Amino acid sequence: MIQLRLKSECDRDLAPFVTRIAEGEPQSAEDATLWSLEAGALGYRTGQTAFRLRGVAPADIAGDVLLIDPRRQIAHRLIRAASPHNTFLVTEQCDQLCLMCSQPPKQNHEDMFGHFLTAARLAPPGAQIGLSGGEPLLHKDDLFAFIDAVFSSRDDLSFHILTNGQHFERGDLAWLRKHRARLLWGVPIYSDDPATHDEIVGKPGAFAQLAPNLSLLGLAGAALELRTVVLAQNAPGLPRLADFITLHLPFAATWAIMQMERIGFGRMNWTRCFFDSSTDFASLGAAIDLMRARGQSASLYNFPLCTVPPAYRGLAMRSISDWKQKYLPACGACSLRDNCAGFFEWYREEDGFMEIRPQ
Ligand code: SF4
Repeated sequence: MIQLRLKSECDRDLAPFVTRIAEGEPQSAEDATLWSLEAGALGYRTGQTAFRLRGVAPADIAGDVLLIDPRRQIAHRLIRAASPHNTFLVTEQCDQLCLMCSQPPKQNHEDMFGHFLTAARLAPPGAQIGLSGGEPLLHKDDLFAFIDAVFSSRDDLSFHILTNGQHFERGDLAWLRKHRARLLWGVPIYSDDPATHDEIVGKPGAFAQLAPNLSLLGLAGAALELRTVVLAQNAPGLPRLADFITLHLPFAATWAIMQMERIGFGRMNWTRCFFDSSTDFASLGAAIDLMRARGQSASLYNFPLCTVPPAYRGLAMRSISDWKQKYLPACGACSLRDNCAGFFEWYREEDGFMEIRPQ
């Protein structure tokens, strides 16, 4: 697994700071250049300070944007220059308790927007950065101000924001319209049946709040990616959800049907929730067929390619971020591997897909 945190050494009395590992000549005051290479430790310095990193090679972090935490002696890789999968964790707070949540909510919030702003300004050209939580829109004013500040200094960046869709208001319309070309909103909807959706997200009344807010995104012309994790609880109803989407949300750019991640609440509730689509793809296939017939886009995220019937494999994305992706020993000689999402690092064969068939 790719490490997102590195051991670092620097003056413990310093405040946390953001720096970029320079590739060649420094381009900004935050750029750090390599000045020493000792056994197991890389020494870097900026105009203001110096620090060391351990357990990494210079080429692996060239261009990366790091948040150095001197008190903990850790460097967080906020942006990996070579990766398209960079996400800022806005908050760990959330007002839902989804059955399969991979990042269970916490009470406390640490405001990181100042560091994120510096990091975004140092991002590689044209980067799309993910913003996730928790629920980022619990801090909507700060989030919107952060995005405004980034866009005012970088006209080449865009954001993919994961939100539960509970916190939009009519007063947000103008702001949503202003940035619609550079924001992609990923919003989960688990069922067209309010009771099923509410049960999955652990919040009574969530669907009743979500439905008008999705319409608001449509009114704003916002780019919308609907997201549905397939679970035992909602799998039979997927064709009805597809029908709902095509009737009420025809403006959605795509519908991502996703497999579960076995971590957080997802691990705790795995036995109760995991739906083995390798042995039963019927409801997914029917839902996708309906979307296709009505001219709307659907994609499959986090599905090992051999678990998807050939007629639907073209929709399966290599969606698992590189730092948490793995393949099984059986995948070694598989001819599909280059196009296959593989598995989450924390996937277990013993209670996972029954039918993994290398081809
Ligand atoms: S055998 Fe492995 S690499 Fe091949 S399609 Fe299945 S999961 Fe992917």
